[in-house]
Amino acid sequence: MVTETSRRTPLIAGNWKLQQDHLQAIALVQKLAWTLQDAKHDHASVEVAVFPPFTDLRSVQTLISAEKFDLRFGAQDVSEHDSGAHTGEVSAAMLAKLDCAYAIVGHSERRQDHHESDAIVGRKAAAALRAGITPIICVGETAEDLEQHGASAVPVQQLREVLAELPATGEIVVAYEPVWAIGSGQAATAEQAQQVAQALRQTIAEVRSDEAAAATRILYGGSVKSGNIAGFMREPDVDGALVGGASLDAAEFAAIARFKHHVGT
Ligand code: PEP
Repeated sequence: MVTETSRRTPLIAGNWKLQQDHLQAIALVQKLAWTLQDAKHDHASVEVAVFPPFTDLRSVQTLISAEKFDLRFGAQDVSEHDSGAHTGEVSAAMLAKLDCAYAIVGHSERRQDHHESDAIVGRKAAAALRAGITPIICVGETAEDLEQHGASAVPVQQLREVLAELPATGEIVVAYEPVWAIGSGQAATAEQAQQVAQALRQTIAEVRSDEAAAATRILYGGSVKSGNIAGFMREPDVDGALVGGASLDAAEFAAIARFKHHVGT
């Protein structure tokens, strides 16, 4: 099996969705950075990243760079196109100029609200890679999928179709987010998350290589809080979390990032 946990730095990523204007973003990033600083958080051992709306990115970039905060940041979406007549789109090159390390692609809200197919998600991930940005590829089953096909089948198929659009190399992160667990307060169990994360890692091994599978971080997302993160992080194939609601509270999000200090809970 391709699990070699020690090679992967955990990533705790906060997806703010359509919340926080640029002034609120500055306040939230400051509070988060100071909370982590006060707790002497070791960013080399657990990476922390925030995903504000596009309009906040310049402010977040300027703040993090001026204050030399160890936080990383990215966008919640990216265009599949590099440039041209695509009104309303934001390119990966534009995000790279803003020092975005990551771009989320294929979040279930975009798949639902904007009818994004796996092929589109794959092309968005490819566009990110072309600009040197690591795509965070979201996959996950609905409650109906879960009932009909079990937990792994749909996310594995989604990942296969996304990977088919990508070059064989280039860093990716995968986020397993069961749709029924997002914003519902009903998180998957750690065992469920592990089962799907393991199947996703096996898929990466088959499509890319064992080495790529062992190096790729797989996150769990869906109603993660400081009270349940430790359970997920004990699982060998879960390398972090994509956090929605709880990332808007600096103290709570910092506590999630500090999971190593309550791993026994
Ligand atoms: C998300 O939006 O990716 C998410 C996991 O949301 P929440 O943590 O609020 O369930």
